[in-house]
Formats: sequence, C-alpha cells, structure tokens
Amino acid sequence: MTNALFDAETFVTHLSCSETGKHYPADQIHNLSDTGKPLLVNYDLKRLASNVSKAQIATRAPELWRYREFLPVRNTANIVRLGELMTPLIPSQSLQNALSMESVLVKDEGRLPTGSFKARGIALAVSMAKELGITRMAMPTNGNAGAALAAYCTRAGIESFVFCPDDTPQVNIREIALQGAQTFQVNGLINDCGRIVGEGCAATGWFDTSTLKEPYRIEGKKTMGLELAEQLNWQVPDVILYPTGGGTGLIGMWKAFNELEAIGWIGSKRPRMVAVQASGCAPIVKAFEENKDHAELWSDATTLAAGIRVPAAIGDFLILNAVRESGGFATAVDDSDILETQTRIARQEGLLLCPEGAATAAALVKEVASGRIRRDEQVILFNCATGLKYPMPGAERFVDRFEPINYKALL
Ligand SMILES: *Cc1c(COP(=O)(O)O)cnc(C)c1O
Repeated sequence: MTNALFDAETFVTHLSCSETGKHYPADQIHNLSDTGKPLLVNYDLKRLASNVSKAQIATRAPELWRYREFLPVRNTANIVRLGELMTPLIPSQSLQNALSMESVLVKDEGRLPTGSFKARGIALAVSMAKELGITRMAMPTNGNAGAALAAYCTRAGIESFVFCPDDTPQVNIREIALQGAQTFQVNGLINDCGRIVGEGCAATGWFDTSTLKEPYRIEGKKTMGLELAEQLNWQVPDVILYPTGGGTGLIGMWKAFNELEAIGWIGSKRPRMVAVQASGCAPIVKAFEENKDHAELWSDATTLAAGIRVPAAIGDFLILNAVRESGGFATAVDDSDILETQTRIARQEGLLLCPEGAATAAALVKEVASGRIRRDEQVILFNCATGLKYPMPGAERFVDRFEPINYKALL
C-alpha cells in the first residue's frame, strides 16, 4: 500500500456503477453513481485468492470479520465491533415434517447485535465511514436499520440521525434513541423519511446512509452468502427464500456467490433466489410477474412485517436480475398467513421468528403446494431479526396465591 495509514492489505480496486459499469475511485466518500444508481465494490480477486485460503478462514473466530479479505476496510483500527457472530442454521422440524422435506434450515439472524441482520451492513457502513472521516450519519428506517446505525455510530463516536414512520413500533423507536441517535418520527412511510434525509444533506452535512445509497452495506450483507457457503462446506443450497425490502441482502448474497465462483471456491451452481414480500407491499413481485426491469412505486403499502414495507427500492433492477438469473421467482404472502405461520412455528418448535422470517416460511408452504419448490430441494429461510422486538399475542392466565390451587386444572 502506498498510503502509510493503511495497515492491512485489502483487495479493493475501485467502485463501479451497477447500471453502467463506470469506474469510481476507492478510498473516497461516495453515495450514488452519476446516473443515480447504487455503486458496487470491486476487488482484485486473483490477489485475494492467493492471500487467503478456506483452511485459514476455518481457523478464525466465528464472526463476520473472518471474511476480512472479502471486505473493504483497510485499517483494522477502523473496524467498529459489537460482536458480529456467525449465525446458526436451525432445521425447522415442523416444516420438514408438514411438507415431507428433508432439509429446511432457518438462518437465524436475530442473534446479531441489535437483534437483526442490519448489523452486518451497518457494521461495514460505519467502519468505512470512520475510515473515510465521516462524522455525522443519517438514515430513514422501519426500525432495525436505525437501531443498528444508532448502536454502531455511538460505538464509533459518530453522530447519528434516524427518521422513522410514526407507526414504527415504540420498542424500535426507543431502542434507537436509547443507543444514542437523534430520533425523529415522521408522518409518512420509509420513502418519505428517505426524502427528508436526502434533502437535509446540504444543510446538515450528514452522510446519507439509506439502503444502497452508500456502497458498503451490501458488502456487510454479502457475508451472509459467504457464511452460508462455508457452513454448507462450500456448497450452496438449492433455494434461498429472502424477505425482500430494499433487497440489500439478496443482492449482497448474489455478489458473494459470484466472487466465490470467480476464485474457484464454489462451482457454477447457484441457489434459486426467491424474493418474498407481503401482499400489502409487493412491488418486486408485481415487476417480476410483469417481466419488467424496474418496479413501480407501491401505493398505500401496508404490512405488519415492517422490514419489508418498502414501496420503492432503488436497487429494484439488481434484485430482479439476481432472481431471474438464478432461476428463482418472487412471491407474496398475506399478513394473516405470516401471523399464523409465526404462531405455529413458535408453538410447535420453540423457534420465535420475526414476521419477515415467518413470511419466508409461509411462502415455502405456498410454493411447495404450487410446485415451484420441490420437496427434495434444500431450502434456506432467512429469519432476519429476533421475534422479541415485535408485538406478541397476549398471555393472560392468572394464579391467585391466596386461594387453593387446582393444579390439575393447570395442565
Ligand atoms: C431490513 C429488513 C428486511 C429487508 O432486508 P433488505 O435486505 O433490505 O431487503 C427484512 N426483514 C427485516 C426484519 C429487516 O429488518
């Protein structure tokens, strides 16, 4: 490295526009490309591959940073950590039994810091912000991304400003505020919050950290694909069901698989990528079915699965590309199915999914019935947040300690 500040070798060569391919220099602050599209990070994969092996990675701590060579942070001192551990793959016995399938695995991302997989993307975005000298960050959020931004910014000594729809659950809003962000509720949806963040940049000097409007959240979410491949002994599963809002994770995993194939760590097989949305907000499903490259803004978006209540995604064409290239599809499920599935899996196997995770389970049931997913396929469901941050059904039974207790009646 020519710059003395950089203590670790990383393999980033440049950034590129996801639409036109135009190059942009690394090591500078960027939002979107000139044409208003997301920027992607490019690596010298040849050099990367000659500097690290699967065996070396296997000896490292079970956390996101074990994939250091695949990530853009140059100076190790800039890494902001809250314990980004690898997340487990848990067989869903009730789905396997009910659907007569051999392998339905839940990737439980609720174990990550701040209780959701947003921690992966934000850990990278904030570490890169620190590296590039950004001191003030802002974002629109439906809850989980804001919680991660607040926590990582506070950890890094960076100011954070978070804007959420005013119907975001109180537990999320309070978590964001308690972790040190300036927190604002807005009478609108996430895209309205996004407009406020974007328009405020000039007056406030804050950095717009919106989904895909900065280049590094994708790199953090890419680790889901790297981790999944490693956990399956450097194989990919047959099908991945991903609850799709802005689509960072789906795009990031697709990037991971392409990079892994380029260095020969996996073959040309790809999982079929299935974008799961709620029927009250399904712009990607509509565009997929109409064979379009871009999705239209979804009006009156409603779903209790807040993480996927995203009426317009700037990376829509990247989501649709990955889904189509993979031979996958996009599908929507009703909120009533989401709730029913969440309750059933929690009661039957002690696995409390978030509504977005439950949406992938409901989609699996629907698509096995339709024949679009076969019973002999290995399926991964993404449970992207802990179910503990969402409203739960009441539990009102009572015991009066001053009265005789009829224990048999408790059974
Ligand atoms: C953000 C979020 C999603 C959507 O993730 P994207 O990668 O932005 O599509 C799904 N579920 C939960 C719980 C989320 O917080």
